[in-house]
Amino acid sequence: MYAETGSQWNVAELEDAAHRHLISPAEEMSKLGTSGGRPLFTSADGIYIRDSHGRTLIDGPGGMWCTQVGYNSQPIADAIAAQALRICYNSPWYSINGPASELARRIAAFAPGDLDHVFFTTGGSSAVDSALRFMQFYNNVLGRPDKKAIICRIDGYHGSTHLTAACSGRAGNRPNFDLALDNVSFISAPNVFRRPRGMSEEAFLDMLVAEFEERVETLGPENVGAFLAEPLLASGGILIPPKGYHRRILEICRRHDILYISDEVVTGFGRCGHWFASEEVFDIVPDIITFAKGVTSGYVPLGGFVISDAVLARVSGENARGSFYTNGYTYSGHPVSCAAALANIDIIEEKGLLAHVREIAPYFQEEIRKLGELPLIGDARGTGLVACVECVTDPDAEEATDFDKEVALRVDRYCYEGGLIVRPIGSMCVLSPALIITREQIDDMMAILRGSIVRVQDELK
Ligand code: PLP
Repeated sequence: MYAETGSQWNVAELEDAAHRHLISPAEEMSKLGTSGGRPLFTSADGIYIRDSHGRTLIDGPGGMWCTQVGYNSQPIADAIAAQALRICYNSPWYSINGPASELARRIAAFAPGDLDHVFFTTGGSSAVDSALRFMQFYNNVLGRPDKKAIICRIDGYHGSTHLTAACSGRAGNRPNFDLALDNVSFISAPNVFRRPRGMSEEAFLDMLVAEFEERVETLGPENVGAFLAEPLLASGGILIPPKGYHRRILEICRRHDILYISDEVVTGFGRCGHWFASEEVFDIVPDIITFAKGVTSGYVPLGGFVISDAVLARVSGENARGSFYTNGYTYSGHPVSCAAALANIDIIEEKGLLAHVREIAPYFQEEIRKLGELPLIGDARGTGLVACVECVTDPDAEEATDFDKEVALRVDRYCYEGGLIVRPIGSMCVLSPALIITREQIDDMMAILRGSIVRVQDELK
């Protein structure tokens, strides 16, 4: 029985079961049936994870950008257990529950502008998918059935549903899948590091904005429903657009009645020192913000979107035109997930984690930029508690080479040996630790990363 033996499983048997029966969300098919190099994690506490070999590692990527308050939180575990026993489920179709109602109130209170209504889903992909489906609903109700095109960016990532995968412009996610690309249009990634040689950042910004504006014109503003964008492209390699980018794009959206959907699945819930980054860090109040991950610090799955009252008002009340909004998630506002989120938000508030991030992030960023001075590192960038170093072995290459990627993987491997998990994304090593991280722990993390980069550098001599 799981309840009796869950903590005493035989590791070898578990690894064998995984190889035989488990499909991962990033499976190299030629290696199906082998470990694919994946470690088995057995327990975790704070920012540390233990693997099945008894090794303790700093969790550099914070799971997958999600373990805001850290592992092993008793209050979150208690909230989950208490809610599971109180009432583990209610149908959101014909009833409401306490945690979802209270969580919607809390999120509406700290969301920017008039973003005041929340729809809950089960994770980030379903949050973005639901926001996009809302755009379709909205324009149908408004009698504009053609206004459905979605403009998004190369290297953006928005999820793995049929529609969100189509809107994700990362080449690596695309081969061998059929994508719902009919109404999806890509513009350039705001990749300042890889901008055309010799072009100033200001000129690059103008180019990006002009590209968006031209795309709207080409498609026809009457056909464009949404601009979908992460405030900073996370999985695309911590790409922080030039200052003013968001505001200028938003102005164009406003001019053409295009919904601006800010995908804050990564940046939400404290990653940049604020509940949401759109307004406080990037100076915009979008129409819709999507969230997931940090809302529960990864303890249980939850996602959703928060939407502006002004937008909602156009298709509700006397403007509803007899419409019925159906986006029928069995688990929308799941009481256990929402209870976990409330406990998580309480911890972020009680521990002052937003202020902590604002205080410690400059140090974190300063330290990561020092790594940028190493010969192997072409660029070191980030904001808040998210950063990356990009390995560049050929300074003349316009794009990351296969060898750069191989080298980054080697850095990751040495980090692991040294006690640090680093998320490999192409030629980049990415860090987004739990928000509770201390200065000393940042030092530990940077020392291991530096040592691993230097080791690879020495090997390449
Ligand atoms: N949006 C962004 C910006 C993401 O980074 C991710 C996942 O990493 C998603 C959406 C999809 O979230 P999920 O994996 O919870 O479905």
